[in-house]
Amino acid sequence: MNIGLFGGTFDPVHRGHMALARAALERYKLHRIYFVPANLPPHKQRRPHTAFVHRFAMLVLATAQDKAFVPSLLEAPEESDTATRKDRQEKPNYTIDTVRRMKQGFKASDKLFVLIGMDAFADIAQWHQAEALFRECEFVVAGRPGFSLADVANALPGSLRPRPEVTRPFQKQPATGDLVLSGVTIHLLGDLHQPASATAIRQAVAAGKPLGRFVDPAVAEYMRKMGLYKAS
Ligand code: ATP
Repeated sequence: MNIGLFGGTFDPVHRGHMALARAALERYKLHRIYFVPANLPPHKQRRPHTAFVHRFAMLVLATAQDKAFVPSLLEAPEESDTATRKDRQEKPNYTIDTVRRMKQGFKASDKLFVLIGMDAFADIAQWHQAEALFRECEFVVAGRPGFSLADVANALPGSLRPRPEVTRPFQKQPATGDLVLSGVTIHLLGDLHQPASATAIRQAVAAGKPLGRFVDPAVAEYMRKMGLYKAS
C-alpha cells in the first residue's frame, strides 16, 4: 500500500490542508493518509499552540467524511507515568522519529510518502536528521506561487543538494513533476491555489471576521463552541 503521512500544527486544520491531502491521494494513488498533529513542533515554538486535544478534535471533524483520511495520535503528548511534566512539555516531535514509528507497522511492500507544503519544505535542511528522512520516505510537495524547481532542489540538505550548475536551468521551471536524485524522490504537486493559512484564520476569528470558505463547517462550529482563537 502507498501510505501518506501529513504532519503539521493544524492550529486549526483548514481547506488548504485538505486540498493538499486530496490532490496527493488522487495523484499518487495513496490508500490512506494519516494526519499527524504535532504536540510540540520543533520549528514553531514562538507562540503557544492551542491544546493538542482541540487541534486533534478539529482534525477528527475535518476528516470524518473520508475513509482514507485518518487522524493520528503518533505525536500525541506522552501519557506514561514516568514522563515528568517537563518532559511532556519540552520534547519536540521530530518527523524522523514519527516516520520510523509508523514504518514499524509496515509490510515490506508498503511505501511511505510524506506530504508537505513548499513553505515548510524550504526549511527541510534544518530538520533533525534530514538526510535520514529522505532515505526513509518519498516526499510530496505542494507548490506555492513563485516557487521553482530550483527552490525545491536548493532546499535539500547539503549532502543531497545537486551542484549549482545542475540546478541553474531549474530556475525557470515551475515546481511540478518528479525530482529524482540519488537518495531523494520528490513528487511535486504544483500550486494548489489554496490561499488558506492557519495564521489568517486565527486572526479572522480574533477580529470577529467571517471565516469564509477556509474551514470545514463542523470545524468552524467546534471553534465557536469551544471559544477558540477569540481575542483575550
Ligand atoms: P500557520 O499559518 O500557523 O503557520 P499553516 O496554515 O501553514 O499554519 P501548518 O499546520 O503549519 O498550517 O501546515 C501543515 C502543512 O500544510 C505544512 O507542510 C504546510 O506547508 C502545509 N500547508 C499549509 N497551508 C497550506 C495551503 N494553503 N496550501 C498547501 N499547503 C499548505
